Formats: sequence, structure tokens, C-alpha cells
Amino acid sequence: VQGVSKVYRVNRQELAVLRSIDLSVAAGEFVTIIGPSGCGKTTLLHIVAGLEEPDEGAVVIDGMEGAKRVGQVGYMLQQPLLLPWRTVEENVCLGLDIRREPHQQARRRARQYLEQFGLLDFAWHYPDALSGGMSQRVALLRTFLFHSSFLLLDEPFGALDALTRLSTELWLLNLWQEFKASILFITHDIREAIFLSDRIYVLSRRPAQVAYAIPVDLPRPRHPEHL
Ligand code: ATP
Repeated sequence: VQGVSKVYRVNRQELAVLRSIDLSVAAGEFVTIIGPSGCGKTTLLHIVAGLEEPDEGAVVIDGMEGAKRVGQVGYMLQQPLLLPWRTVEENVCLGLDIRREPHQQARRRARQYLEQFGLLDFAWHYPDALSGGMSQRVALLRTFLFHSSFLLLDEPFGALDALTRLSTELWLLNLWQEFKASILFITHDIREAIFLSDRIYVLSRRPAQVAYAIPVDLPRPRHPEHL
């Protein structure tokens, strides 16, 4: 992200949201953006994903700029957005189907991950049978299987209770390591940021600028089998 600025114009009023933001995510890196409510974190992620255009500056992903990069990234929100008329397994398989894996192979792979995630018993249920934490794990799996290389995660665990949140964070670390993904993650929670990240960008109040870029150097925990 190079020198990105953004102003929203609503009813002839201007709202400056981002000012000259520079940031980078190296291949395989886990980078977190933290900042006050309303400072422009989601706007920044939309710009990275190509869903919004910046007023100034540019986003380059793997050497690609502009419209070419749309579809290069996976995006996950606080709401898991599972298809309610598809079973859990079918929801996970959506990613594999789009990658055009042969059907049987896709199902085998989906089941293997559902088992790792402790979700195999729910494979044939519909999403309304899942708790919030389970739904988020299914959505995480699908996001990794769709787009394993670069993922944008916008406060995905904000609605979870403390233990479920910790457990789901550990699953995310496992998937990130297994897929060797690059991740740009948003949170309000400084503990979560330190726990998960290689580096943290702290944004200032609106219009957001990078206030601090903090490297984190902590050993990575593995997910305990029994959780
Ligand atoms: P939170 O932490 O509360 O999720 P955020 O840091 O992600 O907030 P944004 O959602 O990016 O912040 O919003 C930044 C500001 O831009 C807010 O004041 C918001 O009202 C405004 N905003 C966001 N999207 C639009 C839009 N499409 N049109 C006009 N204003 C917008």
C-alpha cells in the first residue's frame, strides 16, 4: 500500500478517512492493523481488496495493480456469511468447487479439514445448527480453501466469547502456517494483535495515518489437540 489517501463525499460534505498510508505485507507474513473505532480500517481493507478506489496512492499485490488484482485476495468479515441452504460440508466445498478440484477429491479434502477442526459431526448439518465459533471456523476454512495465498480478515472474531476466541485464533495460526498464507488482519483487541501477528500497524484517529509500526517477536503457540 503506497501513499493511499481516501476522502468520502456525502451530501457535499467531505470526510477525510485515510491520509498517506504506507504499509506492506511480505509473502507468508501475518500483519495486523489496529486503530480506534471509525478511523478507516475497513475502508483500507476495501481499497486493498479493490472494492473501493483510493483518491491518491496505489495498491500493488504480487506486482498487479488496479482492477487486475480483484479476485486475487480472500476476504472474511465478522459475520461468517455461510449459505444457509447448503450443508456445512457443501459450504466448505464451495471454495474447492471454484478451484475446479474433482468433486470426490474436494469432498475428501473438505472432510479432512472438518475433522481437524472438530466439525466432522456437523458436516451434514445446515449452518443454523452451528454456534458462532463453529460458524467462524467453517468460514475460515472456506476462505483458506478459496484463496489460500493472501487473506484480508476484518475483525473476524469480535463476536466470540473469550475461550472460543482463543481457540479459533489458534486454528487460524495453524491454517496460516499450513497454507503459508499472507494475512492482513483487523482487530480492536491489542492482545489478539500481539498474539497473532508478525507486525502491527497502529493507525491514528481519523483521518488515519500510520502512528506506529511494531514488530512482534513471540514464539507461536500450536493448537492443543483437546480444545
Ligand atoms: P470500526 O472499527 O468501527 O469498524 P473502521 O476503522 O473500520 O471502524 P471504517 O468503517 O473504514 O472505519 O469507516 C471510517 C469512516 O468512514 C467512518 O466515519 C464511516 O462512517 C465512514 N464511511 C465508511 N464507508 C463510507 C461510505 N461508503 N460512504 C461514506 N462514509 C463512509
